[in-house]
Amino acid sequence: MSVEEKYGALGTVIGHEISHAFDINGAQYDKDGNVVNWWTEKDKAEFDRRAEKLIRYYDGIVAFDNGTPVRGKIVQTEAIADMTGMQCMQKMAEKIEDFDYETFFRANAFLWARTGSLQSAESRVLYDVHPLNYLRCNVVAQQFEEFYQTFGVKEGDGMYLAPEDWLIIW
Ligand SMILES: [Zn+2]
Repeated sequence: MSVEEKYGALGTVIGHEISHAFDINGAQYDKDGNVVNWWTEKDKAEFDRRAEKLIRYYDGIVAFDNGTPVRGKIVQTEAIADMTGMQCMQKMAEKIEDFDYETFFRANAFLWARTGSLQSAESRVLYDVHPLNYLRCNVVAQQFEEFYQTFGVKEGDGMYLAPEDWLIIW
C-alpha cells in the first residue's frame, strides 16, 4: 500500500480508536485511568455545543426512501471518532510533500464500501452506535477542505457543505 492508502484505510481507523479516549466516555478518565473530571467548564461547554450541532446534522439525514431518519444522538460518539481519525490523518498528510489526496480519500471510501441487505441497514439505523457506512465516508469527507479541492465539489453539489456548517469537534 502507498502511504496515502495506509493513511486513508488504516490510519483513519487507528486515529478513530485513539480518539475514543477523548470522547464523552473516555474523557471522564485521567491519564492514569482514574475517574477524574479534568475538563475546564469552558472546554466542556464548547464540546457540548459542537456535539449538539453534529447531532442536529445527523438528525436531518433521511437514510432510506421510506423516510427512516438517522438518529444523531445514537451515533454522535462514533461519528465524532470518525471525523477525529480523519483529522489526525490530515495533520500527518500535511507533512508529506505532494500527498495524493485523491488516493487517500478513495482508500477511505473503499474501507466503507460494503454489500448488505436493505433489511440489515434498516435495522442498524435504529440501534447501531456507528453511522451507516455511506455516512462514515460521505459526512466525514464533507468536513475537509482537501476533499472539496481534490474532487472539485462546489456549492450546489450533493456533497457540498458550507464551511460554517462543518462538524469537526477537535
Ligand atoms: Zn469507535
